[in-house]
Amino acid sequence: MKCDQGGTFTKGQLKRFGNIELNPSAGVLNYGQGLFEGLKAYRKEDGNILLFRPEENALRMKMGAERMCMPSPSVEQFVEAVKDTVLANKRWIPPQGKGSLYIRPLLMGSGAVLGLAPAPEYTFLIYVSPVGNYFKEGLAPINLIVESELHRATPGGTGGVKTIGNYAAVLKAQSAAKAKGYSDVLYLDCVHKRYLEEVSSCNIFVVKGNVISTPSIKGTILPGITRKSIIDVARSQGFEVEERLVSVDELVEADEVFCTGTAVVVSPVGSVTYHGKKVSYGDGIGAVSQQLYTVLTRLQMGLAEDNMNWTVELR
Ligand code: PMP
Repeated sequence: MKCDQGGTFTKGQLKRFGNIELNPSAGVLNYGQGLFEGLKAYRKEDGNILLFRPEENALRMKMGAERMCMPSPSVEQFVEAVKDTVLANKRWIPPQGKGSLYIRPLLMGSGAVLGLAPAPEYTFLIYVSPVGNYFKEGLAPINLIVESELHRATPGGTGGVKTIGNYAAVLKAQSAAKAKGYSDVLYLDCVHKRYLEEVSSCNIFVVKGNVISTPSIKGTILPGITRKSIIDVARSQGFEVEERLVSVDELVEADEVFCTGTAVVVSPVGSVTYHGKKVSYGDGIGAVSQQLYTVLTRLQMGLAEDNMNWTVELR
């Protein structure tokens, strides 16, 4: 899907997956004008397909596009393009319980621009891939390391939108953590170096008794759609949920810690290492993480009734 100078996108076509051509001075290649989304399609027992809250991804892309000086497809155009792409790739959606189809919408400045300025032309495309678990541990607990020197986001920056540069910013800390055997990195705020932000590609939650806390959205954290959904699910299950500043010190007292994201779903955290000290959260999957994972995934896979009206069914 391409947009004209007036910022209006016209309907695109389905094409076989392959390389695309870009002008070497395209805005995305030189000035990072790129935004993406991530959502999943699950196969139901009866063979039909379920999308999870695709209009939320469309809205997040719109919000991000505004920050990145890019036009974006309308919510209706975005959702329709996702549906068309998924239906055309139906055969790649794994059977129920064997994974899902990951959907990657991408918006970029494809027009040529030499001096620093927004690109004169934009391209929106979607590609898909069947996926299993994100972490090699599967639903087994992951081990995180807290990073307080390298940051993924700064106040007033682009950390709150899903732009490509945010992911380039985490590669160094993430590679170093993986080389040391950790699953991923937990970032702290860059002002006080004290408050939890998020993991490279997921949000973080801390459980203490019946209270589940997660860092509030304040421009340096991606407003995760799984985060938002888990907050509602947890409240509906009788937990108290607080969105607030969560200090790194609270990790020591926590009963459980877990991450949320489209790719990771709900991933229990087995340990967090901070300044060389490791805090562990018992053996196996915590009861709260397991409960929230079960409720959410049953809904996403069509195994439970969708009282929230979150799923979109395709056949
Ligand atoms: N934070 C970051 C940095 C992410 O890349 C993601 C994945 N999109 C998330 C959080 C979780 O967001 P969502 O639940 O919408 O996938």
